[in-house]
Amino acid sequence: MLSSSSSSILYTGGLPIIKRRSISPSVFKEDHQCVLPDQLPSLIDKCKSLTQLLQIHASLIRRGLDHHNQLLTFKLLRSYSSLGRLHYSISLFDQTQNPDVFFYTAIIHAHSLNNLHSQAFNFYVRMLRDGIEPTEYTFSSVLKSCPFRAGKEIHAQAIKFGVVSKSSNMYVVTALVNVYGKGGDLESARQLFDKMPDRSLVSLAAMISIYAKHGDVDLAWKLFDEMPEKDVVCWNVMIDGYAQHGRPNEALELFRKMLMDQMRPNEVTIVAVLSACGQLGALESGKWIHSYIMNNKVHLNLQVGTALVDMYSKCGSLEDATIVFDTIDNKDVVAWNSMILGFAMHGFLKDVFRMFVDMTRIGIRPTDITFIGILNACAHSGAVSDGWKFFRMMKDKYKIEPKIEHYGCMVNLLGRAGHLDEAFELVKGMDIEPDLVLWGTLLNACRIHHKIGLAEEILKNLGNSSSGSYIMMSNMYASSGNWDEVARTRAAMKGNGIVKEPGCTSIEVGNKVHEFVASDTRHPKRKEIYEMIEEMNGWLKGFDEYSPKTEIVLHNIDETEKRRSLEVHSEKLAIAFGLISTERGTTIKIFKNLRVCSDCHDVTKILSKITGREIIVRDRSRFHRFENGLCSCGDYW
Ligand code: ZN
Ligand code: ZN
Repeated sequence: MLSSSSSSILYTGGLPIIKRRSISPSVFKEDHQCVLPDQLPSLIDKCKSLTQLLQIHASLIRRGLDHHNQLLTFKLLRSYSSLGRLHYSISLFDQTQNPDVFFYTAIIHAHSLNNLHSQAFNFYVRMLRDGIEPTEYTFSSVLKSCPFRAGKEIHAQAIKFGVVSKSSNMYVVTALVNVYGKGGDLESARQLFDKMPDRSLVSLAAMISIYAKHGDVDLAWKLFDEMPEKDVVCWNVMIDGYAQHGRPNEALELFRKMLMDQMRPNEVTIVAVLSACGQLGALESGKWIHSYIMNNKVHLNLQVGTALVDMYSKCGSLEDATIVFDTIDNKDVVAWNSMILGFAMHGFLKDVFRMFVDMTRIGIRPTDITFIGILNACAHSGAVSDGWKFFRMMKDKYKIEPKIEHYGCMVNLLGRAGHLDEAFELVKGMDIEPDLVLWGTLLNACRIHHKIGLAEEILKNLGNSSSGSYIMMSNMYASSGNWDEVARTRAAMKGNGIVKEPGCTSIEVGNKVHEFVASDTRHPKRKEIYEMIEEMNGWLKGFDEYSPKTEIVLHNIDETEKRRSLEVHSEKLAIAFGLISTERGTTIKIFKNLRVCSDCHDVTKILSKITGREIIVRDRSRFHRFENGLCSCGDYW
């Protein structure tokens, strides 16, 4: 039974005062047996369910305790919001006479927890208007909710109220670091961070995550590496940072290191590392992570399932993607989209249509991403009338305004199918400003169909340019042998600080991803690789149908040099390495970061015939499956 004396908190309207007092144990027996009034606050705090909380609240009302005890009201307010009943909290707040800083802080905190940021901010403003001084807790709550500019003002107020001073409050400063980080002011964020007397795991994770999100992965790594202890959140931020900023290989390596450090990954880690595998096309690593999930009972939730589907389709295994997809319960539109994008990438138009029918039949509403998948699939198959059908359906039936990407798919579809005038009309009639990528797509189609006149008309419309259209321009001039113009375009590119994204091909062999750029000599097996290249050249010579596509070489060099530069494209180096380091008869899978060039496409077809190997090439836009001299794209890509 309860002792006659226990400690309690008396709420006096100002600061809570701890006071010991004695109570006779007989007063509150009817509802909650033997509950003493001073136990009520902790009883409220311990409430795990809404029903319990409502019962206690009801009994307080019956005893007439609800209006007189501010501490109880305060506890109720907090508990309701933590149990997801914010509107009860708000009405308790509204009934409170002269709410003080604790009430205000609680209601601000409740709103920012529920992502109701502008309401949280409004309560803060109201509080200042009531002449109540914020505390450090108020600041750390409201800072979670304020936009960048308001955050800077609140920073100034925090200084004024003495909350941020020499003995800075860690929570407030961490919240400020986040405000500056979100606003993209990394320098101020770092300055605040550096001035912190103590760094908690939370503040370190905040700074690492800011760097990682803004692509400063090296700075993030520096902090991460120096951390004496890392929790799973830090590992996740770092792995995701690498995966999202074009360094998937490092993401995968870090994941392996995480396991070696006996750190248990969670669903977030798995989603990040699967994305890295997908980017690398590292099927073996992806499968290994899948079996890790199974063996270690990582919850295969909707996000993990979707990430697996995405990984498998990007790694070229639609079979596995479909198997995982079928096991996902209550699939949302993101899951459906990842399967549709998977089929689209492989050029399986019929499956894309089937998926669309299936998903809409069960009431899943397609999104703009769904249509990007469908239109892409149409573009890969030259399905012009289907493309128009879905483009119109998107606008008319689903009220989705086409974005630049949808126009891009349509222009690609129409352009490749030779409907260039139609494509040009579409671009001219757009409600949004066409970007350079879109013009580049159209220019590329002009190049394929030798429409120099239209290309020049487009180029005239383009003033300042991006790397894409510059490259397109030099392409155009180079293929017509106009080397003066090529040189001029290149000089303009350099002058504008534009760098062409280097082509890079990767291949996974023996659980390691090997990357190659053109004429690469960094690989430890370079000698064997170049011997294989020579052997490949020998085979090609015996093939009358093959003639090197030297017209795609954009340098004014002689024919022999042009041939030589084609021979050492990154795709060919990766295939050569694949041939010497994998078993006879096995499939070779390579991944190119840009579109595969037409010479490499021709050569890969021939190699698949000569070696009897299936060769799968994933480039920026789709999968090509080469078998016995033919490609699954039907030379249409
Ligand atoms: Zn090539
Ligand atoms: Zn192909």
